[in-house]
Amino acid sequence: MFIPAWCAPENVVWTSELETQLWNYLCAKYDAVIVDKADGHFMEMAAWFLDTAGILKKREFLERYATTIGRKIYLPFKQGEISVCSSISLAVHEITHVVQFNTYDVEFLYKYLFDPMARALYEAEAMKPELEIFVWANRCPVPNAFCDRLAGNLHNYNCNQAQIETVAIILKSAAAVVNQGGLLGGVGTKAVHFLNGILQHN
Ligand SMILES: [Zn+2]
Repeated sequence: MFIPAWCAPENVVWTSELETQLWNYLCAKYDAVIVDKADGHFMEMAAWFLDTAGILKKREFLERYATTIGRKIYLPFKQGEISVCSSISLAVHEITHVVQFNTYDVEFLYKYLFDPMARALYEAEAMKPELEIFVWANRCPVPNAFCDRLAGNLHNYNCNQAQIETVAIILKSAAAVVNQGGLLGGVGTKAVHFLNGILQHN
């Protein structure tokens, strides 16, 4: 099986330090901050944001989902409560939303809120770096089923079947690039280089 040169070493040890360093690096690089439930103002805004977009029930959101608004990222769990690889995947996804805000500002927030097709496409962009992390961490190609599963999550984001199928196609074409050893050049690529840099020095 073809394994890209940029994959994690075979014997990598998944320490929580790895995930902490990556979050810190990406937050500093893209001017993002992590908030928790103690930030009541943010939580109210986040609940309003998701309600307005018809995305999820408030309670479900508070308990289960990471949410990014502007440069603030809310994580519903503490370090160690999910696997290191899941946390790394989440980091590249949420930071990509910060990049979208840094690039398009309020236009991004407005379209994300009110236009389900635009929301689906923004989510597709945020899912693409997860494909790089999948290959990097697992040292194997992204299966089509993984793309379908990621796209299927958009059921929870008030997106329809046609929008979900469009995102699945976008992800499969990005996966074809990654599976052949290509990197996509966004946050996932930055993360892969950063993580490999750390691992080479250990
Ligand atoms: Zn997202």
